[in-house]
Amino acid sequence: MSMMLVPTPGTVLAAPKVLLHDHLDGGLRPLTVVELAQETGYRGLPTEDPAALADWFRQGGDGSSLERYLAAFQHTVGVMQTPAAIERVAAECALDLAADGVVYAEVRYAPELSTQAGLDLDTVMAAWLGGFERGATAAAAQGRPITIRAIVTAMRQYARSVEIAELAVRYRDKGVVGFDIAGPEKGFPPSRHLDAFQLIHQANFHVTIHAGEAFGLPSIWEALQACGAERLGHGVRIVDDIEVGRDGRYALGTLAAYIRDRRVPLEMCPTSNIHTGAVASIERHPVDLLRRLRFRVTVNTDNRLMSDVTLSSELELLARTFGFGLDELQWLTLNAMKSSFLSFDQRLRIINGTIKPGYARLMAEATALAPTLV
Ligand SMILES: [Zn+2]
Repeated sequence: MSMMLVPTPGTVLAAPKVLLHDHLDGGLRPLTVVELAQETGYRGLPTEDPAALADWFRQGGDGSSLERYLAAFQHTVGVMQTPAAIERVAAECALDLAADGVVYAEVRYAPELSTQAGLDLDTVMAAWLGGFERGATAAAAQGRPITIRAIVTAMRQYARSVEIAELAVRYRDKGVVGFDIAGPEKGFPPSRHLDAFQLIHQANFHVTIHAGEAFGLPSIWEALQACGAERLGHGVRIVDDIEVGRDGRYALGTLAAYIRDRRVPLEMCPTSNIHTGAVASIERHPVDLLRRLRFRVTVNTDNRLMSDVTLSSELELLARTFGFGLDELQWLTLNAMKSSFLSFDQRLRIINGTIKPGYARLMAEATALAPTLV
């Protein structure tokens, strides 16, 4: 029996998927940005035509200019300054992910970004988590159940990380599963925020850190060994610590070996890495090498609006480029679920109750459709 057939878009869409790295402010619907700008009086949009705006966001995500990419976030964050707006964005996020066949998601956001018009952090959290609940309830009613949780992000370039870490811990039983820091890697090492990580560890809480995207091995080392990150956001530059010879033999440096030995999950975001210039092309993305070396690889979207992707489209792209079949997609999905910040018994329930039966069904269908390959 062969599972080497590249799965069709319909199969990838139907497959149960798990998403660990997705930004709430990077996933708005273009029409929602326009409507929220009108409702909230935000005046900064380059155009109020939803189709033209969708185009503008796509171009902003096209690598040529990191400034343009960052300007895109000014607009999404710009319209997320009222509780109703935040709630709507969060509800639509849950619905859109569920419609894409995502069965478990951890979506992150820096709540301090929504305080520009005077909201306090607790109001932002209530709106965000309330939106997730409403969206997940609506998705379940449509026959697309999703479990969705929040990761609270602090910005590297600001000085509120301890307060934000406290906030994350305070909401741990209300839908928050972890803490993250994001923002410019260069010049803002995670060790500037040691107090925040200390607080997270002392509370037995979870932490993932954006590292090894724009900046190399020292950033990854620091995230793991100085700050105690359990997962790495991106982590693509770990390939700088791997030598592959022409004969296919490879040698891992001590950092790469540590990451593989300890099964440190890599939250890889292929298209986003190309758009921000971290990787030159999909063919040159290290996701396949790292998969073959059996690192704990997971596949993620990062910013669905700016990169114009879904988790299904990312997986399809990898399937087309590297010849992944259903076996590989299931492996990546199980990696992600095992690496989630949900409790162990909840993870097992989703693995055994949803992911494995879902893939078993798809594999049986693929076999039935291709009897000559049996
Ligand atoms: Zn990210």
